[in-house]
Amino acid sequence: MRSITTFDLQYAHRFYGFQGEAQYLHGHTGVLTIEVEDSVSVNPGVNMVYPCNEIRKVAWDVLKNFDHALILREDDPLLPAILDVYEKQGIKNGHPQNRMKGEAFKTEWAVAYPDSRLVVTKETMTVEGMIKIVYDLLKDKLNIAKLTFTSGVNAASQEYKVTGTIDRCPLCGVALNEEGECPKCGYKK
Ligand SMILES: [Zn+2]
Ligand SMILES: [Zn+2]
Repeated sequence: MRSITTFDLQYAHRFYGFQGEAQYLHGHTGVLTIEVEDSVSVNPGVNMVYPCNEIRKVAWDVLKNFDHALILREDDPLLPAILDVYEKQGIKNGHPQNRMKGEAFKTEWAVAYPDSRLVVTKETMTVEGMIKIVYDLLKDKLNIAKLTFTSGVNAASQEYKVTGTIDRCPLCGVALNEEGECPKCGYKK
């Protein structure tokens, strides 16, 4: 069985070098669906694979970086131009009103700069590219069985084979910490 959570992500991007309108900067509300699977079910009384609000919390810490953000490919000449404007405006390294910031990250596919609400990608950020980026960011935190991303008329999905199991609280389904304790309800293994 799977637990399924959906997020909205509002972002701006463009397809640098693409022949078509998408080479111009534009925005989307992208919809990401995360399906989490686990071989071991929590307490039958709890009866959940994984509480969806917990999937949200774990994923949103990272995914916040894409919301109200600009996503550009690393070789896009718009990147230095925009950073230059942000620098001159004094908002490149953060601003008191830039509060909804995610945890900065750097993977093979993308680097997040929450202070300037920017994500720099290695490849063009298509729906397929987004799935690759998201899986890489969350695969160690959640047992992801499937990711779906839709943006405008584009959509892509990918299924993954779930192998391991993440040790979780039998009472509330939250992942246990290294000491075998539930960070939410205090249950101890
Ligand atoms: Zn687009
Ligand atoms: Zn618990």
